[in-house]
Amino acid sequence: MNDFTSIAGALARVRARMDAAALAAGRDAAGVTLVAVSKTHPVEAVQAAMAAGQAVFGENRVQEAAGKFAGLAGARLHIIGGLQTNKARDAVAVADVIESLDRKSLADAIEKAVQAAGRCPDLLVQVNIGDEAQKSGVALAEADGFIRAMRARFGARVTGLMCIPPEGVDAAPYFRRLAAMADAHGLGVRSMGMSGDFEAAIAAGATHVRVGSAIFGARG
Ligand SMILES: *Cc1c(COP(=O)(O)O)cnc(C)c1O
Repeated sequence: MNDFTSIAGALARVRARMDAAALAAGRDAAGVTLVAVSKTHPVEAVQAAMAAGQAVFGENRVQEAAGKFAGLAGARLHIIGGLQTNKARDAVAVADVIESLDRKSLADAIEKAVQAAGRCPDLLVQVNIGDEAQKSGVALAEADGFIRAMRARFGARVTGLMCIPPEGVDAAPYFRRLAAMADAHGLGVRSMGMSGDFEAAIAAGATHVRVGSAIFGARG
């Protein structure tokens, strides 16, 4: 069964690797936030991570996240990955950050939900950095225009960019491309890097890495 006692050690190892990657890149480790991706893992796993000092979590299903985090005071929740328009209202209600703003219909739904809720999470524009047919994220050719439009609409709530590079190839060029795009728009946040490549992401300027399996183990 689940062994939640292994989570503290796994977290410590990930944090040590993040620190080493920041040092190697000549960066301040404090400039990189670990988003612990707890999707599919039970609330006990999140509690074990919180007991080990972890405060920021990522989930990709709004319903699952709402149930899991309802009673967890002090946790900060990032919604990551493709977000359905009909889930925007719940996402606005529970999220501190929505990392997957990638199309006008979703922006419309978020704006409506924000007006009704009287609160607005921070927003990251997800860029389809490898221009892959199946992937969510705004297409590269439309990214600059979309980012400008979202900043005009949501102002300072748009804090940065997020990407998931193609699998099975060196992710570094994609990370560098996202960082350059964020620079060009004067956006501070770059959410990039997962269990398999977070060190390369930190080398390329990630401010947030989203790490799941290296902390919580394989997903069932
Ligand atoms: C699941 C997921 C992650 C974490 O992936 P791991 O390989 O388990 O670290 C990161 N980002 C997104 C968008 C995800 O859906």
